[in-house]
Amino acid sequence: MVNKYTLNLLFDNHGRQLNYLRLAVTDRCNLRCFYCMPEEGLNFSKKSQILTYEEMERLIGILAKLGISKIRITGGEPFVRKDLVPFMKTVSEIDGIDRLSITTNGTGPLKQIEDLKTMGIHAVNLSLDCLDRERFHKITRRDEFEQVMSYYKALLEAGINTKINAVVMQEHNLDDIIPMCELTQQDNVSVRFIEEMPFNGGSKGYTPIEWNHNKILAHIKKAFPNLIKLTDEKNSTSYNYQIPGAKGSIGIIPSYTRTICGTCDRIRLTPKGELKTCLYQNGSFSFRDFMRDGATDQEIENKFKELFNQRAKDGFEAEKQKSSESSSFESMATIGG
Ligand code: SAM
Ligand code: SF4
Repeated sequence: MVNKYTLNLLFDNHGRQLNYLRLAVTDRCNLRCFYCMPEEGLNFSKKSQILTYEEMERLIGILAKLGISKIRITGGEPFVRKDLVPFMKTVSEIDGIDRLSITTNGTGPLKQIEDLKTMGIHAVNLSLDCLDRERFHKITRRDEFEQVMSYYKALLEAGINTKINAVVMQEHNLDDIIPMCELTQQDNVSVRFIEEMPFNGGSKGYTPIEWNHNKILAHIKKAFPNLIKLTDEKNSTSYNYQIPGAKGSIGIIPSYTRTICGTCDRIRLTPKGELKTCLYQNGSFSFRDFMRDGATDQEIENKFKELFNQRAKDGFEAEKQKSSESSSFESMATIGG
């Protein structure tokens, strides 16, 4: 029988296999979502500080040999990095990688969608927190609502597996929750509501959220009492539901209440090449410096194994281990959402 002892797979010290890489290719972005970064932006990395595409391809090649088969490209806004499409095409052809997805804010030109389709993209996660132009402007500090809606429609027309990511914010978009659920009745889309996390880059303070999974679900069930619970995929980050007869589905991601850590199969690499074994963990080790200091592929493989052998069991334990000054100003754009 094939098991972790007969194959060279990557496991953590809690017996969880890692097979999904979230790769942040930049920390830069053309929007300024207030839950992610301040109006003036972040102290963005210089080009020399972030991994080159060649360095990323090398790490992916090593991880693919350790059983990593799924990759999500994220950021920052991935499409603001030059030559992203040819890079993604190369990644999609790496032996062992069979699922390539991307998370984007959908402000790029619509012709990107054709490129994504041609390379056989598995899914596009589109960030869209509301269905109203003014609220969108307030949240993202940019007037791009119409563009993002066109991007959304073009994704559906192209037949690309599309998910909408909506961060639930008490002060901004509660009125959008039900209309966004209704969207799933007409469109084959998965609308996923995300609990707000304390990674806003110092944009604002953070008080532990009131709108958690349970509250969001209760709110949705009030409007749709017959809401169906779907079977969640193994390692799913969301709890999934469906309105009877709907074309799409509804998900809730407990990113703050962290009830899904037990099956976490994710590796995060920041734009600077730091490994995060958990969203709530400090970047623990710089693979950029390791590679630039001449590490061999075998040494890199061993380092991944060593670091995952010290992984916190969940996001709460990881958060406890983090020093207090480093946690307060982190942004999802530098972590890689
Ligand atoms: N720029 C791209 C986008 O917005 O889709 C990709 C990067 S963004 C950091 C990835 C995801 O993280 C987005 O869906 C965004 O809504 C989410 N996100 C950012 N800051 C967050 C926060 N403080 N809490 C929860 N989700 C957050
Ligand atoms: Fe940019 Fe995405 Fe952060 Fe919004 S959530 S500021 S689009 S990186």
